[in-house]
Amino acid sequence: MSSVVHQIARPHGSPTGAEFALVTGPTPTPTPGTALVENLYLSVDPYMRQVMDDGDLHAPMEGRALGRIVASLDPALPVGGLVFHRHGWRTHALVTPADSRPLPDLPGVPLSAHLGVLGGTGLSAYVGLVRIAQLRPGETVFISAAAGAVGSAAGQLARLLGASRVIGSTGSAAKARHLTDALGFDAALDYRAGDLTGQLAKAAPDGIDVYLDNVGGDHLEAAIASLREHGRIAWCGAVAQYSSLEPPAAPRNLFEVMAKSLRLEGFLVREHLDARPALEELLVPHIQSGRVSVDETVVDGIDNMVSAFLGMLRGENLGKMIVRL
Ligand code: NAP
Repeated sequence: MSSVVHQIARPHGSPTGAEFALVTGPTPTPTPGTALVENLYLSVDPYMRQVMDDGDLHAPMEGRALGRIVASLDPALPVGGLVFHRHGWRTHALVTPADSRPLPDLPGVPLSAHLGVLGGTGLSAYVGLVRIAQLRPGETVFISAAAGAVGSAAGQLARLLGASRVIGSTGSAAKARHLTDALGFDAALDYRAGDLTGQLAKAAPDGIDVYLDNVGGDHLEAAIASLREHGRIAWCGAVAQYSSLEPPAAPRNLFEVMAKSLRLEGFLVREHLDARPALEELLVPHIQSGRVSVDETVVDGIDNMVSAFLGMLRGENLGKMIVRL
């Protein structure tokens, strides 16, 4: 049997879980040109909250997944091979060579890393720091949602790229300790403790050069206040806004972008997939040596896919939120 998570209703503000249903049926059989993949890991991502507002109802949720080919009617997809695909929240998927990508077997690198630090979230961190912010050695970097998937990759990448000071923000004192104790951040802010602008100014008394924004709103306002002249903002996401019913009240200091000659640039990682080889070349040896940690929270079972998604939106993850099947 095979299970698929369908979205059956739209959320109003924060999703509750009632917007989804688990649908079971017979396992699909390959047709010529396709292969059957038994999924091993499913990716849980904030953008899925945005998909919930305009994606198809009574249809499978889309999303990134990794699995093993268990039956094939295409010579390019041999049985036993591991592949990445985007068929989403399901136990089994029929893939073609065009909509799947074989995964390399890298000794010392966990398979799940291809959804996290070596996947779309690690690539977002790399693109944000290298291509958009053009981080230079010796600079001070601030990263929001720093204990999450993009953030934990970004903190470790910033260090490898020569940043002199790496500051992260997150939603609890325990997660802030994880940033400094396990991931090598120089300072960590708990935004729930209040006065984020003041906390950042204290952590970076000489200002920051680069801000990787995963949150938007008050975090963007705090970063603009702390950025030095000619600082850069790589705008990766705005997770504080995805379930909000109100327009953001911040940033109220956008004019400082002009006054300090800042550069604010958004990006979509899907327009930078050509950077993946450079990311792998940089990170794989460091993952193998243990210098870079594959930070992830693993939840077991397709039955728990929805609770993992809701938990990630509430900040219950350290590193990449992944569901293991
Ligand atoms: P993640 O950080 O692993 O998980 C989301 C985190 O957001 C939660 O763990 C939570 O951590 C934090 N959060 C939730 N509500 C918040 C709020 N109101 N204020 C501040 N923080 C809040 O997710 P991710 O996959 O790495 O994604 C991070 C950001 O990157 C998202 O905005 C996502 O949309 C974006 N992204 C963009 C691209 C692109 O192509 N531009 C690609 C991938 C991801 P706390 O406990 O710290 O609150």
